[in-house]
Amino acid sequence: MKHIAVLTSGGDAPGMNAAIRAVVRTGLYHGLTVTGVVAGYEGLINGDFRQMNSSSVGNIIGRGGTVLKTARSKRFMEADGRRNAIENLRKLGVEGLVVIGGDGSFRGADILASEFPELRVVGIPGTIDNDLVGTDFTIGYDTAINTVVEAVDNIRDTASSHNRLFFVEVMGRDAGLIALRSGIAVGAEAILIPETKTHVDRLITQLERGWKRQKSGHIIIVAEGDDAGGAFQIADMVQKKFDKLETKVVVLGHIQRGGNPSCMDRVLATRLGYEAVEALINGQNRVMVGQISGKVAYTPLTNAVKHIMDVNDTMLLMAEIMAL
Ligand code: ADP
Repeated sequence: MKHIAVLTSGGDAPGMNAAIRAVVRTGLYHGLTVTGVVAGYEGLINGDFRQMNSSSVGNIIGRGGTVLKTARSKRFMEADGRRNAIENLRKLGVEGLVVIGGDGSFRGADILASEFPELRVVGIPGTIDNDLVGTDFTIGYDTAINTVVEAVDNIRDTASSHNRLFFVEVMGRDAGLIALRSGIAVGAEAILIPETKTHVDRLITQLERGWKRQKSGHIIIVAEGDDAGGAFQIADMVQKKFDKLETKVVVLGHIQRGGNPSCMDRVLATRLGYEAVEALINGQNRVMVGQISGKVAYTPLTNAVKHIMDVNDTMLLMAEIMAL
């Protein structure tokens, strides 16, 4: 192998830059030409390529977002768009492609590899949602949950000063993992996630109990994809039956995607970036590199995209006990 390319695709996540840096520098260490693709699959189709050297990735390990930009590409979903991408990669002589992204990006990468058998493709899990099979943690998750914890700690100060009830909505359309872990860390009264059924009456009973023992300030963490609705909808339903506390809603939104990556994310990204290049050189193809129980693990891209819909029951029970 002489020439590899790297791109970031789909939702951005803190730590993607650290992964790009690791891919570039490991590739250069092995004497490979490394091409950066600008704006994910759109860049592949448009032939928007940059030759990378060591200084192209200088001073980015601590920066959020992605210096290669990311995009969602409708054209790549079509065979025509992918044909252009393959043509561009062929012309440039790219033999290996590293895709840093989430499950959508991996679906695209796997289809590309099936249509272009001379190309090897390896995925690196970069998403704040932590919803991929084949790795204990995805790059960006640790930073995102720490951002949530910092924000909710601030909200808790005002919640307890005024004895208010706050519904805080966090990201997670399909997965409640951001909500669950950050909810435990902030001592939330309840954590509402898509993987479990939300019972508004039960939530009200919990709030009544807290109110009776004069709990100061109540925080409910709501994953945006909860089955009962978003934070505004749930707050509305609760308020109709429970009006003892003044209720506020905060939607944390995109602040969860940004910010300097945590130490954990920088190290994970560096390791997976390094391992992705080693995997390509060693002949691996159509796999995601992840880390399971501290060890590097390879998972076929088609398996990695399966959402983990079963959350850890002990974590849920523990969260409930802590709120008693
Ligand atoms: P993420 O990787 O964060 O899950 P998306 O789901 O938006 O992000 O996917 C990123 C891009 O991957 C899409 O914009 C599209 O170009 C490509 N992609 C996703 N699913 C497919 C598919 N089934 N076939 C081809 N390309 C796909």
